[in-house]
Order: sequence, then structure tokens, then C-alpha cells
Amino acid sequence: MTNFPNWIEAKNHSLWLTEDDRDNLKISYRVKEVIYSEQSPIQHVMIVDTVDFGRTLVLDGVVQTTALDGHIYNEMIVHVPINLHPNPKKVLIIGGGDCGAAREAAKYKDIERIDMVEIDELVVKACKDHLQEVSGNLSDVRVQFIFTDGIQFVKEKTAEYDIIIVDSSDPVGPAEQLFEYDFYANIKKALKLDGIMVCQSQSPIFHQDILKQTSEHIHNLFVHANTYMAVVPTYPGGFWSFTIGSKHHPIKSGHLREKVTTKYFNEGIFQGCFQLPQFMKDLLE
Ligand code: SAM
Repeated sequence: MTNFPNWIEAKNHSLWLTEDDRDNLKISYRVKEVIYSEQSPIQHVMIVDTVDFGRTLVLDGVVQTTALDGHIYNEMIVHVPINLHPNPKKVLIIGGGDCGAAREAAKYKDIERIDMVEIDELVVKACKDHLQEVSGNLSDVRVQFIFTDGIQFVKEKTAEYDIIIVDSSDPVGPAEQLFEYDFYANIKKALKLDGIMVCQSQSPIFHQDILKQTSEHIHNLFVHANTYMAVVPTYPGGFWSFTIGSKHHPIKSGHLREKVTTKYFNEGIFQGCFQLPQFMKDLLE
């Protein structure tokens, strides 16, 4: 076997990817082919073709997004804030190297500019070349790729964006500070007076501490704050949470502003996604 990292293993005449981030739960995917495998200065970047999930982006041994269900996460992190804002023109995405979030935002004709601040250029290159089910090989003149650390980037911005989307990996390594209070305070500063931000706040089943902490930060900083969820089969436990903060506009989902083509998101999902199961309500109270 070629020299793959240790989360790829040959067993029973097949290759298996076993995620490398948990001690007590190991999820393995049967791999048809390793498509791309490179070490960047930031992390190990891999794209594998799996039997059940199709092409899959793996960073440092952790699955990020897949051809099968990447659209659920990307549609939910983008279309909810965009539909809560009456007139978004300028969007900032922090992270989002698979390009799926930028691709969703670019579906809106009235958005004039999308800045995508990704710390690792190699993730974007790998996904544009080998994960087009998610990236759509995004090329839209409104999207500006800025390859730098999102934490530093927002520190230097004041009242620039209508929407900020934090599409980060798990809170380890380069993404650790993307879950901290000071970072969200800088996000608030970087938003215009009526701006809206959203971040992925991890699994309500397995990362309750992170979800609760994120919700507290956003409630402390923003006039309006709330949590919504979606089911993303790729992520352990299925349930996934998003936390949203608004400086001015109430977080009230009603009709869609502009109908764009989606596979998961629609008006009913928009209206229903803030309805949380009782255990989440209890956690976030
Ligand atoms: N949807 C996926 C999920 O929730 O697992 C992942 C989204 S995307 C692949 C996450 C991206 O965040 C990665 O490409 C990573 O390089 C990027 N990232 C991590 N830390 C960052 C930072 N400090 N600034 C900018 N981008 C960062």
C-alpha cells in the first residue's frame, strides 16, 4: 500500500478510513480510492472516494464534508442567515474551504461580494479539483478568496459585512479560537449595524459543552440570538447545531426573500429549523 496516514488502513481486502478524533467512538468508511493526499503547512488534506458517502474531504483524519450530504450543512449555514436579513450585499465566510458555503451564497443575485477567508489554500485547491459535488468548482467573480487566518482578519474589520458565516472545522488546531468569546466579539465589530452572524456549534449530542458555551457567547454579545438545527448523516449523532446572532433584525423565520435552487432547504425547513427537541431547549435555557 502507498504510504497513507494512519487513519487509512487495509482490512479484508478493502481500504478503510477510520476517523482519528475520538477515543470512545470510531467511525469507519469503506474507501474505494484515495483521490488526493497531501500535507499542507496547516494540516493533512485528503480526498477519498467512499462507498456510501461518495467523495469525502478529510482534514487531519477527520471527515469534514461529503458528496452525499455536504449540501445539507452548506445550505443550512447559508440560506438561514441570508433569508433573515432584508438586504444582504456583502458576505464574509470564515473557513469553508470546501467552497460549498460560498457556492450557496453565490446563488443570490443581490449579493454583491463574498469574501472567503480560509487559512489553508490547499483545501480549496483540493476541493475545486476533486470534490466538485460540494465545491461546484466555484468560480464567480463576486467571490474573493483570501488565504489567511480568520481570527486575525476579523480583528482588523469594522462595520463591513451584512452577513458573517463561520464555517469552521472542529475546535482543535487552527479552528480552536474560532469558538472563543473574543473572536465572536470581533465578528460583531466586523458586522454592519444591522448585521447577522452564524456559526456551526457542533453536535447537540456529543458536544453539548461547546454548543452551550457558543450559545452563551452569542446571547451575551448580540441583541437577538438563537439556535437551529439540521440532520447531517455524516456527522456523528446526525443532529447538527448552528448558532445565530443578530445586531438588529429579529430572528423570525417567515417567507423566503428570493427562491434559489436547493436540495434540502425550503420555506418549511426555514420555518421549522428553530423548533428544537426538548433536551436542547433544556440545555440552552
Ligand atoms: N462543514 C465542515 C464541518 O463542519 O466539519 C467543515 C467546513 S470547512 C472544510 C472548515 C475549514 O475551516 C477548513 O478548510 C479549515 O482549513 C478552515 N479553518 C480552520 N481554522 C481556520 C482559521 N483560523 N481561519 C480560517 N479558516 C480556518
